[in-house]
Amino acid sequence: MNFNLGPLLPPPTNPSRATLVLDLDETLVHCNSERLSDDDIYIPMRFKANGVYYEEAFVSKRPFLDEFLQKAGQLFECVLFSACSRPYGDRIIDELDKWNVFSARLYRDACTEDDGYTVKDLRCLGRPLHRVIIMDNTPDCYFYQPTNALPITSWYDDLKDTELLELIPFLDQLATSIGILADLKTFRYKRSIQHQATVPHLHYNPNFKPS
Ligand SMILES: [Mg+2]
Repeated sequence: MNFNLGPLLPPPTNPSRATLVLDLDETLVHCNSERLSDDDIYIPMRFKANGVYYEEAFVSKRPFLDEFLQKAGQLFECVLFSACSRPYGDRIIDELDKWNVFSARLYRDACTEDDGYTVKDLRCLGRPLHRVIIMDNTPDCYFYQPTNALPITSWYDDLKDTELLELIPFLDQLATSIGILADLKTFRYKRSIQHQATVPHLHYNPNFKPS
């Protein structure tokens, strides 16, 4: 629970940049009990992630994470906002953020518990909300500010996943946009159309008769 009354972030070093809030687990990485690839980050410590206790773990990076992070760091004030524990999150970010992309790291104690949901309340950041983007695989997390959402699918182990790579041109667009929330709305709309196109039962069926 976030009991802070003041903003969670210090004043911005570059106020002209919008703020990109990035989730960790299943957005940028996935934690396994076995090694999936030589690139995995080894964590020799006891911790809990997604309700499971690990004595040690291997954290896999989503494909194109390095490219995505470097681009994000050039364009935005990047803030990690994860519901994980600080020791777990810090161990991962220390390893994968070779470019010091993240200017701040917020963890479980910065989240808000609301009726069983863990919510990342962007009002606590101390940034103008029309200049904040939250990229998260779990819609519950941006339940309070859905208009700021840049949705992304959950990633576990698909090494052919290209979602981070495909988002890079949109990051470019958002960084110079005078209407970030409008651009996000258009993005979400197009994305929902694409998703419907891959789910046949959602198509309009003129021959459908209710039983
Ligand atoms: Mg997540």
